[in-house]
Amino acid sequence: MKSIILIAPPAAGKGTQAKLIASKYKLPHISVGDLIRASLNDDSAVNKLIKEQMQSGKLVDDDIIIKLLKERLNKEDCSNGYILDGFPRNINQAKIYDQMLEEINREIGHVILLEVSKDITKNRIIGRRSCSKCGSVYNVLFEDTKPQKNNLCDKCNLSLIIRDDDNEQAFEKRYQTYLKETEPIVKFYKDKGILNVIDSSVSPDYTFEQIEAVINEVNND
Ligand code: AMP
Repeated sequence: MKSIILIAPPAAGKGTQAKLIASKYKLPHISVGDLIRASLNDDSAVNKLIKEQMQSGKLVDDDIIIKLLKERLNKEDCSNGYILDGFPRNINQAKIYDQMLEEINREIGHVILLEVSKDITKNRIIGRRSCSKCGSVYNVLFEDTKPQKNNLCDKCNLSLIIRDDDNEQAFEKRYQTYLKETEPIVKFYKDKGILNVIDSSVSPDYTFEQIEAVINEVNND
């Protein structure tokens, strides 16, 4: 098993799928957004700038991302492969990652693009709520994923929270950032012949079935 790269517009289900793959294939799930959030442990000027960049839907500087990622990939649990959720997000990161792998004589395993329309992803983002205690995620705009009681976690009965960058303005910015910065890496991996395009508009289960087919097919080669 090698590494898996997940590329997707905001709220296409990247995090959900990364968790499912991690659990089935026993691979560490590396969410670069979470790595950044975990590194913001004081109110220094640099951290304030990073928070602003995240809240406004811009990308955080490549140097910061590469440093955090290298530290994470050096950990023992990554030696048999891992899932990258949110990296690379632009061509420069994709090229740096290629060099990093070349230096340690490794290859990318699968690159998976989750495809879904802008309207669907927008509603997924602006309706998203989560429980700060158990991490359960809901969407107040969809009947099947609404909490049973208004804005309360079904399991913990605590008020649900909205992530800082889950608002319509930030969504638009994140979406534009995706089109401008991240979509070019789709072509980059397509030209290398390692891109797999998956329909992520139906349901998490259906998306995961297609991902499993990609992973199993390549592993059986
Ligand atoms: P995510 O949790 O993947 O939605 O990421 C949340 C935010 O973290 C993004 O909108 C960016 O501001 C930042 N971020 C995450 N991954 C990267 C990356 N690879 N490069 C630059 N910024 C990133």
